Amino acid sequence: MKRYSIFSLARNAFNYHKDWQRAWRSPEPKSEYDVVIIGAGGHGLATAYYLAKEHGVTNVAVLEKGWLGGGNTGRNTTIIRSNYLQDESMAIYELARSLYEDLAQDVNFNVMFSPRGLLMLCQTEHELRAMKRTDHANRLAGIEARMISPAEVKTLVPIVNDAPDCRYPILGAYYQPRGGTGRHDAVAWGYARAADARGVDIVQNCEVFKILREGDRVQGVETSRGTIRAKKVAVVTSGNTSVIMETAGLRMPMESVCLQAMVSEPIKPCMDVVVMANTVHGYMSQSDKGELVIGGGADPYNNYSQRGSFPALEHTVTALVETFPIISRLRMLRMWGGVVDMTGDRSPIISKTDVGGLYVNAGWGTGGFKSIPGSGFVFADTVANDRPHPIAEPFGLNRFMEGRLIDESVAAAVAH
Ligand SMILES: Cc1cc2nc3c(=O)[nH]c(=O)nc-3n(C[C@H](O)[C@H](O)[C@H](O)COP(=O)(O)OP(=O)(O)OC[C@H]3O[C@@H](n4cnc5c(N)ncnc54)[C@H](O)[C@@H]3O)c2cc1C
Repeated sequence: MKRYSIFSLARNAFNYHKDWQRAWRSPEPKSEYDVVIIGAGGHGLATAYYLAKEHGVTNVAVLEKGWLGGGNTGRNTTIIRSNYLQDESMAIYELARSLYEDLAQDVNFNVMFSPRGLLMLCQTEHELRAMKRTDHANRLAGIEARMISPAEVKTLVPIVNDAPDCRYPILGAYYQPRGGTGRHDAVAWGYARAADARGVDIVQNCEVFKILREGDRVQGVETSRGTIRAKKVAVVTSGNTSVIMETAGLRMPMESVCLQAMVSEPIKPCMDVVVMANTVHGYMSQSDKGELVIGGGADPYNNYSQRGSFPALEHTVTALVETFPIISRLRMLRMWGGVVDMTGDRSPIISKTDVGGLYVNAGWGTGGFKSIPGSGFVFADTVANDRPHPIAEPFGLNRFMEGRLIDESVAAAVAH
């Protein structure tokens, strides 16, 4: 892999940018690998990268039914934060957030990590109390975040509606100064390029139809490009996880819904932090291009449609216009949806399974972009060593049988 740098940029500029190397190869799948990863989203690609980098496992294929990063990784609103409530969640989300700090240097790709600060508004007394509790928990875990007053909120976000007589007045906010955003495609592309450079085969347009097992051991996968044998198979397919795991005879404790977002026409800079308004249920940040990136709710029924729906659009716009009245006459450019994988406790599953050599990483639901580096790091360790990484251990499938849930749904209201 030729390194990207200011010098390579200058060198290529002299040649009218005609000599850039392809970012990753497009190999034909081999008939056998040590590890097959199903799904080239951020989590699958990060897993492949850390398998190669940290564990020297390079005979790896990442199989993707569409194009890499075309699932939820390329559809999210890019919020990165680690101020979760439960100890187990804080550990993995803070590992991920801290890896984001140096990710661009690590994978030699500008992932545009922007720790611009993130506010979670408190618009009811209940929310204020809940956030104070999270603040105490985060402080114990050494996560840098703090409660701020309504006046500080207004200073950080001048466009926020601070009228005291509105339906949900602002009572304060929970602020994580080094939370923020990243460029989602670049995260996928950066990991893909760096994994490819270490010998990982990324095979796009290769749909896995079935996980093959013989007794209690995985044998490989049946795909649209033939059978591929593998000693280990790692499933990282977000909203499609239940379907693919069912082919191995495993029923997953999760459901799939379509989560939606939209983006406005570009306007001049008006907000340089990320704001989440969980009570009215909407959140917003401004992209480098000036577009307002707006996220909201999911369809209230299970489905596999990757598109927006009018009720979700209406609900989100209502919430955001109430919070930021200046956007009321803004034109929306587009909206979209992604199929997210929700567990009952709104926490992920990073786990071995009862089938030898079969591993699963899913259930990130509405909030798994921020966790990509941490999740890939601990999942790669789990797959390489065939035992859960200590940070991954609490997120095992067994927690649903043991009643050891890691409840983030109540804690966060929305778990983005
Ligand atoms: C609208 C929206 C907003 C969001 N906002 C945020 C946010 O602000 N912050 C945040 O942290 N998270 C957010 N998320 C959640 C986040 O995007 C996901 O949790 C995360 O991207 C999941 O990554 P992944 O790699 O597991 O899944 P994906 O990126 O979906 O990758 C899975 C891949 O598996 C492939 N696949 C599926 N089945 C098969 C098969 N049978 N064979 C081969 N390949 C297959 C898919 O094509 C896909 O590319 C949001 C999600 C959406 C939809």
